[in-house]
Formats: sequence, C-alpha cells, structure tokens
Amino acid sequence: MTNFIARTVGFKPGERNVFLHILTACNLSCRHCYINPEQHGTAALSRETMENWLRLFAAPDRQSNLIFLGGEPTLHPDLAAGIKTARQLGYQSVTVDSNGFLFHDLLDHITPADAVISFSLDGPTAEINDPIRGQGVFAACTANIRKAVRLGFDVSLIYTVSRINIGQLHRMPALLNELGVRRFFIQVIGIRGKSAGFTRDNLQLTPQQWLSVIPAVAKQAAASGIHVIFPKVFLAEGEEFACAGRVAENYFIFPNGRVYQCPLCEDFPVHAFNITENRLVKNSGLSEDRFFSLDIAEGCVMNKLLQPGNIGYDEQGKPLYRISCCLLKQEMGG
Ligand code: SF4
Ligand code: SF4
Repeated sequence: MTNFIARTVGFKPGERNVFLHILTACNLSCRHCYINPEQHGTAALSRETMENWLRLFAAPDRQSNLIFLGGEPTLHPDLAAGIKTARQLGYQSVTVDSNGFLFHDLLDHITPADAVISFSLDGPTAEINDPIRGQGVFAACTANIRKAVRLGFDVSLIYTVSRINIGQLHRMPALLNELGVRRFFIQVIGIRGKSAGFTRDNLQLTPQQWLSVIPAVAKQAAASGIHVIFPKVFLAEGEEFACAGRVAENYFIFPNGRVYQCPLCEDFPVHAFNITENRLVKNSGLSEDRFFSLDIAEGCVMNKLLQPGNIGYDEQGKPLYRISCCLLKQEMGG
C-alpha cells in the first residue's frame, strides 16, 4: 500500500494569488463567516470597476491565480463576464469560491475551461452541515456539485473544521467519492469576522485536536484517490518559519478598495494598499507590512497578537508550538 506523506507546499517565487471579493453580500449567514461589512462595506463592484481591477492585477508573464470571492460571488450578475475577461487578460487559473447556490445559472454561461468551481460544505450530511451553513444548504450545494461534475467542470470542496464538525470529517472522503470531487481543501476555522466570536466561545480547535484528526483524515482521503490540501498550522521542530507577507505575493481585495497582504489582518484598517483611481497605492502609517518583519519565537506575529491565549509555553517560557503562516499549506495524494 502507498505510504501517504504530507508535503509542505512552499511559497513559490514569482507566483501571485489575487483574491478578489466582488461583493460582500450573501444569501447565507454561516456561523463562521469572515466577512466584516464594517471594514469592507456592503458594495458590489460595478462591471466596469471589476474589469479595471482585473486589468490592474493582471501579469500574464507570471503565474497569476485569480480567485473570485464574496460574500457569494455568484450573486453578482456580471461574474461570468468577469471570468471571461480574466481569461483574456492571461490569468493562469481562475477559481470561483461558491456556497453552492450558483446564482444567475453560472454554469450555463461559462465553460469548464474558464474556471474551477470550489464549493463550501461543512458536513457530510444535512444534519451536520445545515446548522452551520443554513437550512437546505446541503441539498442545494450537493445538487449543484453533481451538475458541475456532470458538465465536466473541475470541482473542489472546502470543509471548514471547527469543534462542531471535526468529529464528522472522516465521513467526507466517502461523500466526495460519491459526488465525483477529486480535490479536497480542509480549512481551519479562522479568527476573522464572526469566527472571532468563535474564539471567545472557545470553539476553535486546540493543536492536539487538529493534529490528532486532520492528518489521518487527509491520509484516508488521499488513499481513495483524492488530492487533499490542508493548512500547516503548527511547525515541527526544525521547520523554517516564513511569513507570506514577506516572501510571497498575495492580494486580498475588497470592494471598498482595501487591499490586504495578510488575511488575518482583514478585521482591521491596517491594509497595506488601497486602490485609488484604478491604481494600487501603498499606504503609509501603521499598516500590516510593518508587522511582517518582526521575528518572534511563536512564529506568526498576527496570531500572537490576535489570539495569544492559543499559544502554550513550557516552564522556560519557550512556545510549545510555533504557528505557521496561515497561507502555508500541506498536500497529500495525486
Ligand atoms: S457562504 Fe461564505 S460569505 Fe456567505 S455567509 Fe457563508 S461564509 Fe459568509
Ligand atoms: S498569517 Fe502571519 S505569517 Fe502569514 S502573512 Fe499573516 S502575519 Fe505573515
């Protein structure tokens, strides 16, 4: 039997990831939603602005990956046009992150060559998923996954693990195989938006919970032929720490023109850039990039600042775990 070992996916020099939130509205109200209207507004980009911003971040000579996000991006009537524009501008990959409702008949207006569709589901059944994501969501999402697979789209699935659903994660590989989904992202519950409240409710995972469940389920999924990606979260002894803000090129763009380099900073007005008159303008003052260069024993400086209670220390005051960059991933399987 093949021995499945998790490979760390290092930050690739020259690679760019453009996370474009085209609106913040959503038809759902998930318990762990990270959208923060106070910080990012309630606006939707006009078609013209969307196309201008796609042009602004395009770099066809480099590997540029574009991810359309919301809110629920398929609520935007011009998403299909935006996808076509992105393709013409030379983005190497285009992904739509959807809650599964696929409004405006998206699949009828694009082709499988245009975009990957990434669905979010937080449980293997309606009984587990719907209390987290909303009544009827499991049925709607799985019906559209089946449709996308039938039409030949490249489909992936994101499962956000919290204390509520960690016990059901092991049932996901069977569901994915039944649905015909070959790519599985296991996501750790964030510390942004409503998830910050989860921290207060103590519903986030401990290192022990994460390490005792996630690698084993990833192995199980990989053994059944699924390509699994999951965050590194904790660095082992001797593993090198790297902050994506320093060594990678990621843009998290919101409809109010804020552009962050670190997703953990998104609840605060510390964005490194602003889009002003279709130009990317560097912010002065106390912006997130000032923190990226701080070297601390705990690893990620934003984790230390935002949830210090999650880091344990030994008797000498040395952190028991170093927290990796939240953008560092591991992968398993083909
Ligand atoms: S589907 Fe996404 S944007 Fe909508 S409420 Fe859920 S987490 Fe938030
Ligand atoms: S999560 Fe931490 S390590 Fe990663 S970009 Fe943000 S501050 Fe840097």
